[in-house]
Amino acid sequence: MPAGLISDPGVIAGYLRDASNTCGHAIGLLRPGSASEIAEIFVQAQAQGIAITVSAERTSTTGGPVPHGGWVLSTEGLSGLRIQGDQVRVGAAVRLGEIQQAAGEQGLFYPPDPTSWESCSVGGTIACNASGARSFCYGPTRPWVLSVEVVWADGRVQEVDRETPVPADWPVPEWTPPRVKNATGFFPADNLLDLIIGSEGTLGLVTAATLRLLPLPEQVFSVLALFPDRQRGLNFVQLARSEGSKPRLIEWYDSNCLELIRARIPELPAQAQVAVWIEQETDLENEDNAIMAWADRIAACGGLEEHTLLACDPSSLQKLLHIRHAIPAGINEQVARNGMPKVGTDFSVPDAGLEEMMAAYDAVEMDHVLFGHVGDNHLHLNLLPTSPLELEQAWVIWGALYDLALSLGGTLSAEHGVGKVKAAYLRKLIGDEGIQEFVALKRAVDPAWILGRGTLLAAPMTTSV
Ligand SMILES: Cc1cc2nc3c(=O)[nH]c(=O)nc-3n(C[C@H](O)[C@H](O)[C@H](O)COP(=O)(O)OP(=O)(O)OC[C@H]3O[C@@H](n4cnc5c(N)ncnc54)[C@H](O)[C@@H]3O)c2cc1C
Repeated sequence: MPAGLISDPGVIAGYLRDASNTCGHAIGLLRPGSASEIAEIFVQAQAQGIAITVSAERTSTTGGPVPHGGWVLSTEGLSGLRIQGDQVRVGAAVRLGEIQQAAGEQGLFYPPDPTSWESCSVGGTIACNASGARSFCYGPTRPWVLSVEVVWADGRVQEVDRETPVPADWPVPEWTPPRVKNATGFFPADNLLDLIIGSEGTLGLVTAATLRLLPLPEQVFSVLALFPDRQRGLNFVQLARSEGSKPRLIEWYDSNCLELIRARIPELPAQAQVAVWIEQETDLENEDNAIMAWADRIAACGGLEEHTLLACDPSSLQKLLHIRHAIPAGINEQVARNGMPKVGTDFSVPDAGLEEMMAAYDAVEMDHVLFGHVGDNHLHLNLLPTSPLELEQAWVIWGALYDLALSLGGTLSAEHGVGKVKAAYLRKLIGDEGIQEFVALKRAVDPAWILGRGTLLAAPMTTSV
């Protein structure tokens, strides 16, 4: 048994769930503080065929950190943060919130911004290639990671970057991911950094990372534009992402979101059916012109101009944040009232498929809330079932929407990853051949299939633990 193995069920119980609301089981918990300790653990686990699930802050919505037997390995001991120039070296456990705080004090920022940024770990975001609203401008986590220290599943410790070639005996999958925002599956990489990013804790454990930072913009303003119907909102989205407008995010809120907001902020006008939030970086000299240009675009698309919310100072930004927070708060209250988990989509589609996808989301009859990263054609439909039967129906609806997204050239997960909850749906995207390629890589890197069993790929029966 590895040193420090905790077998107290009371302690382990704190590591069995994530934000997917699924619950697992484990026979032991490990909280190592260094790559060498982790390497020893992996060597033992390979020899004994013991499953290991890497667990960070457990904000995953897909069951990735939920153990299905074996040992849970928490990354919480992997700390450390050092900024040098426009780069930061961080331990895997450091939260994005801590990075933003430290970077901000130096006039810098880290572009990836999952909504969970205050609580999720940088290791978790690298493992999932997480993104967020600003991915419209800055892309996902991948381009901001310069190198990582990784403990591979066989116990080898290595610092890897984009110059580190993939070993000749690792058969990297040759599949072509959909040409959309994508966080699904092994990346068809020619280097080990891109291979480990997005591998969801199934090939190795990231212990530390060097990230690229950008200078803080001089000014940032937000606009919440309101529209009386979906089509006018979509017209505005098309205009917002056309050349010249340069927002750093374009987010969508449907009429059900607006209802949740009205419950807390009654002054929202009744005729508003859709809200589109944009944010733009600028400087003091150009700010007024940039804001006026947005007013013109809203008017041109038939928006409710007089009700547009503009935020360019701390107090108005705070009000906008308050409005945005009303949505998850309202959803959480409803989920608690229903006593049923929500079922959420994470599909993205090419530009040409957006309108069809939106029409399908709006046609869903079960209680739902639709919001998200419309700039990337990546919306989260949250189905809110009220009974076990409706929960089953929600997954049927989810499946039909997934089929539609695929038929439009879309993907299974644009940012949350596949985890365990969606592993059964991967084959539809990558086919039998793709699954075989993924399994071949997994076996080459992790012969006893110890890491992340059941995540991304349904695990073969290799051991009794
Ligand atoms: C309210 C809320 C909002 C969210 N918003 C977003 C969003 O906007 N965008 C987005 O992309 N996601 C979002 N998420 C999902 C989630 O926050 C991200 O996937 C995040 O990256 C997970 O980080 P974590 O530290 O919680 O990792 P965990 O949930 O603990 O683990 C996630 C996966 O990564 C693996 N893993 C964790 N650490 C490591 C490591 N160091 N090395 C190797 N593997 C590791 C785990 O095994 C697991 O498979 C949201 C979740 C919630 C609850």
